[in-house]
Amino acid sequence: MIVVLLGPPGAGKGTQGERIAAALGVPKIATGDVLRAAVKDGTKLGLEAKAFMDRGDLVPDAVILGIMKEALAQPAQAKGVILDGVVRTVPQAEGLAKVTKELGRKVDVVLVFDIADDLLVERLSGRTTCDREQKPFTGLKPGDPCPNKCGGTLVRRQDDEPEAIRNRLRVYQAQTAPVLDWYMGQGANVVRIDAAGSFDDVTKRALATVGR
Ligand code: AMP
Repeated sequence: MIVVLLGPPGAGKGTQGERIAAALGVPKIATGDVLRAAVKDGTKLGLEAKAFMDRGDLVPDAVILGIMKEALAQPAQAKGVILDGVVRTVPQAEGLAKVTKELGRKVDVVLVFDIADDLLVERLSGRTTCDREQKPFTGLKPGDPCPNKCGGTLVRRQDDEPEAIRNRLRVYQAQTAPVLDWYMGQGANVVRIDAAGSFDDVTKRALATVGR
């Protein structure tokens, strides 16, 4: 089963995506994680992506399509995959449709996380991320040790600073919201869930959309 997670930054796609992936026994790919790892390792991809990411702008479609193609060709994804933040523009949705078709597959569910902007700003500005595992946490400070005791330290992502958050929300409305209309126009299986509330409640709603 191929599941596309759509929703603004801070809607919980990462956390819920992990849970859906675990329930279905399939991997999750997040382009944001792939790009942050590349930035950390100082690779060519990372150098190309960093300035866009720091501002909260989107990395060019051609870069994302390359990552998408490579990731979907991995044998680990034969049973399915959860795509978290991988599709953020209409050309990316078109590119994904092409890649899946070439592989004899299709997107089974487009799961949309609905949530109000003020809640997103509150969540993102209170978020810290482990610099080693890249997992997000709330209620902790930059500089604290990772609560998972992985040896990492919590940091504030550059794009979780207030100006970048505002830009990411603008970018979402301008470039990613139209992806939803594109999928509806294609007759895709688009399911919207209320992404406010406790993590566990949202997980129940999310799992119901994939038959769990
Ligand atoms: P995320 O971790 O999903 O919030 O992504 C962090 C940043 O990575 C975004 O603000 C973009 O700069 C970049 N990024 C991640 N995925 C994509 C994508 N599919 N298209 C363009 N840029 C992306």
